[in-house]
Amino acid sequence: MEDCLFCKIVKGEVPSTKVYEDEEILAFKDINPAAPIHILVITKKHIESLAHLEKEDEALVGKIYGAINQIAEEHGFKEKGYRVIVNCGKDGGQEVMHLHFHILGGKKLGEKIV
Ligand code: 5GP
Ligand code: ZN
Repeated sequence: MEDCLFCKIVKGEVPSTKVYEDEEILAFKDINPAAPIHILVITKKHIESLAHLEKEDEALVGKIYGAINQIAEEHGFKEKGYRVIVNCGKDGGQEVMHLHFHILGGKKLGEKIV
């Protein structure tokens, strides 16, 4: 999508610090980290939010969790643990309308809601 910030990151039009990339998935550091480790994992394909997920995209979401596991292993925080968050829509506090998974870690995380 032309005006989408994360699509621009995928195309390299907006710079990012990449931590993982394959054909379908890109992961990069969040510009405003909420924890010592704060990585965003996105689908290269523009999907607006979790609410816009089509049946055909479900396997891709499975792959994202695989990539998250791999990133945690390679960056050495798999053992200590981490949190994965997806904000969806208005009530979920989603600001960038391109499906993304936050990986947070590097400290004992507070503000546990569930
Ligand atoms: P949301 O609130 O939509 O779940 O999360 C959007 C995230 O994108 C926020 O954590 C925000 O800091 C991050 N973000 C916004 N603009 C940029 C950017 O230009 N580059 C990077 N790396 N992260 C961004
Ligand atoms: Zn997009």
